[in-house]
Amino acid sequence: MNYPNVQLHIDGAWCAAASGNTLPIMNPATGKQIGTLAHAERADLDRALEAAVKGFDVWKRTSAFERYKIMRKAANLLRERLDTVATYMTMEQGKVIAEAKMEINAGADTIDWFAEEARRAYGRVIPARAEGVYQLVIKEPVGPVAAFTPWNFPINQIVRKLSAALAAGCSIIVKAPEETPASPAELIRCFIDAGVPAGVIGLVYGVPAEISSYLIPHPVIRKISFTGSTAVGKQLASLAGLHMKRVTMELGGHAPVIVFDDADIDVAVKTMIGAKYRNAGQVCISPTRFLVQEGVYKNFVEKFAAAAKSLKVGDGLDTSNNMGSLANPRRTGAMELNVEDAQKHGGKVLAGGKRIGKEGNFFEPTVVAELPNSAKAMNDEPFGPMAIINPFKSFDDAVKEANRLPFGLAAYAWTKSAKTANAIASQVETGMMTINHLGLGIPEVPFGGVKDSGYGSEGGTEAIEAYLNPKFVSQAGL
Ligand code: NAD
Repeated sequence: MNYPNVQLHIDGAWCAAASGNTLPIMNPATGKQIGTLAHAERADLDRALEAAVKGFDVWKRTSAFERYKIMRKAANLLRERLDTVATYMTMEQGKVIAEAKMEINAGADTIDWFAEEARRAYGRVIPARAEGVYQLVIKEPVGPVAAFTPWNFPINQIVRKLSAALAAGCSIIVKAPEETPASPAELIRCFIDAGVPAGVIGLVYGVPAEISSYLIPHPVIRKISFTGSTAVGKQLASLAGLHMKRVTMELGGHAPVIVFDDADIDVAVKTMIGAKYRNAGQVCISPTRFLVQEGVYKNFVEKFAAAAKSLKVGDGLDTSNNMGSLANPRRTGAMELNVEDAQKHGGKVLAGGKRIGKEGNFFEPTVVAELPNSAKAMNDEPFGPMAIINPFKSFDDAVKEANRLPFGLAAYAWTKSAKTANAIASQVETGMMTINHLGLGIPEVPFGGVKDSGYGSEGGTEAIEAYLNPKFVSQAGL
């Protein structure tokens, strides 16, 4: 299948950039160019902003029921186009095709969820102090949104922002990831083909810092949503604060996995291997610091390292592979640095640790054990296929280590004791916790972090609220 040359979408039309400039798109599994991408500059952004004003005016007056019907249609179009969109995603991002398909199907479910939420964006009536007075709270869309999304989940990162904004009645300009642009463009094509009016959705790519520094302060934009690193998130949130814009920030994590002596080790290993090496570990909720109680430490480490070694790594289009390439050369470089630094600090590399081949960005599923807190990977998100496994003695030691870092996105725990499960859920500082299974990231549950991992939720009933303003109306009869 040929990969497309990706265009911008502005004011209801697919178009080249005004300057005619393009960027090359590389396949991370081969290192070869597969297509080009239109590169937006100021003139394109101005057109997108003008269109977003027009689109907002139309969309906010479109009934919630009509928005729901268009969104449900977009979800079904995305399901129909699964094979094509998944192939583009694997070619541009590197993940195995089965994961690309899961992401796209989950994306369609997310659109359905928010479509239904559109019809439930209720206000309320507050009992008044005087007879004949009605006190109404009405939910109104905040206005045109600017969304910035990364390359690790080209569809999933956009679909949550896009669907919530559309459900609420907002228009939106998406600055999608330059390195993985075709699958997001296909997602947006589904909405356009389903009947979303011109101007409601804009799609641009370019230099991220240039686009964000223009859109965030711009008076047309009323709400910012960003997914990416904590460092960039803090910059963008400060800029938004300076201009009094609402923000949702979904930032980095460094998830602890706490395995207690009474856990079912075989189930824990099997489940966590899948979670750790999914998307080659380039996942904000990726399990990273495995804290394993002394009684089961040796058993867990041996089984986990053996399972990591058994994974087959290669081109994501080959369905026999379990893990694809990393998304860009920055990640393989970062992984090499992490392993080198871990060895310097006395960490034991029990599986992997090296690049695979010279072509593409492949890296071995890596397990490092007994790594001191002074090592880089114990503090900075490795964002790659690296599990760190360290022993702990007591419940309190595990909680202390879990809460040591400034992050608080996801956490995992394994125990057969309901008492321990309750205690660990209440004591770990995290936005999300899953115990004895993988239960994060479905549309109907909250998704977001605390501390340096950001604020706001991109799932559950909370998510649409980020795109709505409450308006209070107090009305008396004459
Ligand atoms: P990066 O920090 O420069 O970029 C991360 C993302 O932010 C990219 O999508 C990029 O386009 C965007 N970005 C960067 N500067 C921006 C700006 N000024 N305005 C708007 N968007 C901007 O580096 P990277 O090499 O792409 O990724 C490295 C790190 O980012 C990873 O180690 C990981 O910690 C983090 N990351 C997190 C997620 C997530 O899901 N939370 C996704 C991708 C990357």
